[in-house]
Amino acid sequence: MDKIVSLCKRRGFIFPGSEIYGGLANTYDYGPLGVELKNNIKNLWWKYFVQTRDDMVGLDGGIISNAKIWEASGHIKNFKDPLVECKKCHHRFRPDKLIDPSKCPDCGGEFTESKMFSGLFKTTIGPVEEEGEIAYLRPETAQNMFVNFKNILDSSGKKLPFGIGQMGKAFRNEITTGNFIFRTLEFEQMEIEYFIAPQSDWNKIFESWLEYIYGYADLIGLARDNFFNHEIPDEERAFYSKRTIDIEYKFPFGQDELWAIAYRTDYDLSAHQKASSRNLEYFDEETKKRFIPHVIEPTFGVDRTLLALLSESYSEEEGRVVLKLNPKVAPYKAAIFPLLANKPQLVESARKIYEDLRKEFNVAFDDRGNIGKRYFSQDEIGTPFCITIDFDSLEKSDVTVRDRDTMKQERIKIEDLKSYFEKKLN
Ligand SMILES: [Zn+2]
Repeated sequence: MDKIVSLCKRRGFIFPGSEIYGGLANTYDYGPLGVELKNNIKNLWWKYFVQTRDDMVGLDGGIISNAKIWEASGHIKNFKDPLVECKKCHHRFRPDKLIDPSKCPDCGGEFTESKMFSGLFKTTIGPVEEEGEIAYLRPETAQNMFVNFKNILDSSGKKLPFGIGQMGKAFRNEITTGNFIFRTLEFEQMEIEYFIAPQSDWNKIFESWLEYIYGYADLIGLARDNFFNHEIPDEERAFYSKRTIDIEYKFPFGQDELWAIAYRTDYDLSAHQKASSRNLEYFDEETKKRFIPHVIEPTFGVDRTLLALLSESYSEEEGRVVLKLNPKVAPYKAAIFPLLANKPQLVESARKIYEDLRKEFNVAFDDRGNIGKRYFSQDEIGTPFCITIDFDSLEKSDVTVRDRDTMKQERIKIEDLKSYFEKKLN
């Protein structure tokens, strides 16, 4: 983990949040390479789960929402942790996580009585804080999809079964944080609410979603061997859920939740129908029956997915560090080098290829130092291919393409580069 954290900072994937002001614990900023990697994860997810399925539509709901949503969902009442506070340094801890519950592990100070602290980030709307209307930053994206169920149903004309996909930021005032970007105050989710008729064979639909989720792991390049389906037993599951699986991943710090899938019955829509007094029923034209749909919810953490990809792809071999990222998610698909930076003809030809390829793919240009250093630098950030323009290129209109993982090189005609990469990237 230390190596990954240090690589992320050094190469511009992830920086500690608010760093020049001494930082802000458990917040991070994604740098130039991090944002590319993150966008690739999200774009592939959107395409795979939303755009290429007839039974899916998308939504981009608001982060700030009416407090009534969170009353109805149970978050205001239940989304709380019992905490004790140190009377001396004011650090807060979960009593059940303390090895010695009688004194502060940070300073040895005494604790207050245990109190309930909300995990919701609260804010106020209006110019005067004291008189403002209380609103919450969403602790999950899911509720946007439930409260818009009727809007989407009416506007899209979808018939059951169908689902809504959404990605976006969520906020949790977590007390247990840590392991780099694994658990942070602000994070990004990709979630699906898949609505089904109550009499459906829900377990069959659940199983088919589970398998479809693993297709996404294949797509982005996470090996199935590194996953573990943790079936949540009856006594630990939320009372409304009939089946929940935490899809765990073998992170460097241990196996922990990466994604999840839950069958939530009609709990959410029923709760919102009751609290809002709006009819959220579905009318089945064939059976002429009205009912509240049930829901299966696959959910994904963007940041955790990114961390899993970094952990899985990081390797050290023969004196080099290589991120063996799947080309589909790699920040740069290729890097273009003129063999020598002081030969204008080589630089000009390399720039031309660069300008041409960047219209189709995200590519890098590098003319600093020697070729060996440039390879090393691109290997470390996971660029799958390096293209070198040398003196032969000027004569024969071809270039050397070097493969990141095998380090093998081949000569490719400049005019064939686009189709070569199209093939390699699909
Ligand atoms: Zn203390």
